[in-house]
Amino acid sequence: APVIWWVRRDLRLTDNPALTAAAEAGPVIPLFIQDHSVDSLGAAAKWRMGEGLRAFADALEDKGSRLILRRGNALDVLREMVDETGATAVHWSRLYDPDAIDRDTDVKSALKDAGIEAESHSGHLLFEPWTVETQDGGPYKVYSPYWRAVKDRDPGAPLSAPSLSTPETWPKSDVLDDWAMGAAMNRGAEVLAKYSKPGEAAARSRLAVFIRDKVERYKSDRDLPGEDATSRMSEYLTYGEISPRSLWAAGQRAMEDGKSGAEHFVKEVVWREFAYHLMYNTPRILTDNWREEWDDFPWRDDERLAEVKAWKQGRTGVRFVDAAMREMYVTGTMHNRARMIVASYLTKNCMIHWKVGMRWFEECLTDWDPASNAMGWQWVAGSGPDAAPYFRVFNPDTQAEKFDPDGEYLSAFIAEGQKNPPETALDYFDAVPRSWNLSAHENYPERPIVGLKEGREAALSAYQNRPKAS
Ligand code: FAD
Repeated sequence: APVIWWVRRDLRLTDNPALTAAAEAGPVIPLFIQDHSVDSLGAAAKWRMGEGLRAFADALEDKGSRLILRRGNALDVLREMVDETGATAVHWSRLYDPDAIDRDTDVKSALKDAGIEAESHSGHLLFEPWTVETQDGGPYKVYSPYWRAVKDRDPGAPLSAPSLSTPETWPKSDVLDDWAMGAAMNRGAEVLAKYSKPGEAAARSRLAVFIRDKVERYKSDRDLPGEDATSRMSEYLTYGEISPRSLWAAGQRAMEDGKSGAEHFVKEVVWREFAYHLMYNTPRILTDNWREEWDDFPWRDDERLAEVKAWKQGRTGVRFVDAAMREMYVTGTMHNRARMIVASYLTKNCMIHWKVGMRWFEECLTDWDPASNAMGWQWVAGSGPDAAPYFRVFNPDTQAEKFDPDGEYLSAFIAEGQKNPPETALDYFDAVPRSWNLSAHENYPERPIVGLKEGREAALSAYQNRPKAS
């Protein structure tokens, strides 16, 4: 009898324990369900998920298989599929956000009650969050001891792609184009499509290039936003087009080959694990200040403020901040240092709540990840575990001098004032909504919407005068 592989955020054939288990059990029917969790994705992530599905459906066809697409409540669709195909088992890769956990727990018990085997597998992470514990038996709250606890563990060798036997008849599938996954992106999708290379094959070849040419200098160059110096694996990890275990294995091999930046790369991959460890153990990190003493801080949570509008549009008048926001609209991602700087400017200089920024990233990032995004925002804002202290306010100008000394990043994304702006800078005007009414002939803002000095002072005084926990 056939077996259903419920595909979610694991659009890959290699190192996929759920797929391997399904393939061992019988002919595999790969099924992707557009349920609420997909419907509610931000515009860019939803577009990117659609592109990932397209690439993945092609990859499955090359193996003589297919990707079946259905829409609706996950349990209803799975029940229908079991009835239609006579499948006796459903396998999937685990996810760890609270909504997915609730859904999957219900699905598992309902399928089991109906006599169907239902099995979830690891694969999205290196280490299951509940398997890493402090000596007192609790979760970690600080990265360094978390790293020490996992760095010598063996997550196992990556699995090779299994061969797939196919069912006698295929169930009907929706047509991907009918789903219009890019609809909310409007014209911005065409720009993103120039910079994003979806799919498992693209992920693997980028990883190979990174390990061959870049990892050696990763530790020093990873902070330079004008350089192509990081792995760019985040987008692939988000949709599971590559497994974290493949990154770990590549990193370990590079270490054995004496490539000096390799350990640092593995450490960054473990930051993602740490984010998941935090989210799993304290799901509150997704919605509320992780440290409750921040609940009374006078951050402004109002989307209509002029500062929010200028920040979103990449027109604050602070060049590093604006270049970074534009990078996000053009490429779908943003350099890590730039993420820290735009988050610091918003939450500190502008005194806007980190939730405003977190929500906007969720809408605009193609590598949006619930755990890393929430941890990143709360880390910069100061309200998170192991966070940067609030009084550490980044100065975007000095950061630009230090990390973008030749202004490469700024000129890559800010067209105004350049005689011959590069394509990336011009693409910004095509990527953003028409309703913003922006054109390359616009003048760049003369003055910052919030000056760096005033903003910093206001933020620090709010911090000093904050209501203290009684
Ligand atoms: P590399 O430097 O090559 O690192 C390799 C991998 O390690 C990354 O792909 C990523 O999976 C992981 N990693 C690296 N840095 C971090 C980090 N600080 N936190 C967690 N994991 C990390 N990352 C996302 O994937 N999705 C998000 O939505 C996201 N939102 C963020 C929001 C803020 C405010 C901040 C400060 C950071 C955020 N990050 C997010 C983390 C980080 O910026 C990106 O993972 C990184 O820029 C991706 O580029 P890369 O793949 O080239 O990273």
